[in-house]
Amino acid sequence: MPAITVDDITVLPRIPLPDPATARARGVISRTLAPRGFEGEGFPVRRAFHGVDLASLDPFIHMDQMGEVEYAPGEPKGTPWHPHRGFETVTYMMDGTFEHSDSNGGGGVITNGDTQWMTAGAGILHIEKPPEALVVSGGLFHGIQLWVNLPAAQKWSPPRYQDIRAGEVGLLASADGGALVRVIAGELAGYTGPGSTSTPMTLVHATLSPDATVDLPWRADYNALVYVLGGRGTVGPDRIEIEAGQLAVFGPGNAVRIAATANPDSRTPNLDVLVLGGRPIREPVAWAGPFVMNTREEVMQAFEDYQAGRLGSIPAVHGAPTTVVESDARAAEE
Ligand code: MN
Repeated sequence: MPAITVDDITVLPRIPLPDPATARARGVISRTLAPRGFEGEGFPVRRAFHGVDLASLDPFIHMDQMGEVEYAPGEPKGTPWHPHRGFETVTYMMDGTFEHSDSNGGGGVITNGDTQWMTAGAGILHIEKPPEALVVSGGLFHGIQLWVNLPAAQKWSPPRYQDIRAGEVGLLASADGGALVRVIAGELAGYTGPGSTSTPMTLVHATLSPDATVDLPWRADYNALVYVLGGRGTVGPDRIEIEAGQLAVFGPGNAVRIAATANPDSRTPNLDVLVLGGRPIREPVAWAGPFVMNTREEVMQAFEDYQAGRLGSIPAVHGAPTTVVESDARAAEE
């Protein structure tokens, strides 16, 4: 799980230990296991938020852990062209490469620690796929895709992209020097990550060495979720055990404690977690397929707009026409 790593954690700024006079450790209110499934053209995912109610997740809607999978040559898969409206998709690639193209003419390649932040807003069509060279070669593929809701006032904003390169991510160390903490978006302990979010939130990827502990200061007005990408450890003041594929939802407080087991299995020595939280939007959510709106009528409207081509058209590929061109072969034979 390379994402971005550093040779020497000890040179990084340290996250100070919470002030015991004011720290209130957040307890764990639920722990769930992400079931396995398939997305797009059939790449393996874990549904990280399965079984958790939307009110606890707010402002988040959905998260897939994509992989981790070692593809054989010819095996890598992506998605067909599809629409979105009403929220943001955040794609963080830890291993491997994903290409993205959209109906606005945008797109790019994300790889090994890069993040792509797409604000679908009023609506967009896009496609996500491994590049041709990776399809041919096969190889490791591991990432996450997170859906961040938008408040009603921003659901109709124009689509926008941010490509966040791995080298821009804010890097911090835990107070004990045993954890590398990557701030991808939002603020942590006074350090700000590169992702600019419509909905106030913080997204962190932390890698803990065996027996390391990290206490993250966490805004009391944000929710707090920890998803385990790999390894084993404990979360919260009551040291609730947690392992790969599990999500912990935290209750109120202003600090999140994560600790790696002292006795990991040799294949996965480190504990890798995503820590995420944001300010709840507290609006009604109506969600179906690729659309996240406030009412059922708005979702039905989104399906209608998509069918009518109002969410954009698929751009030309290699000069191919975007509307049907027909010819009469019999005419050529005469
Ligand atoms: Mn998509």
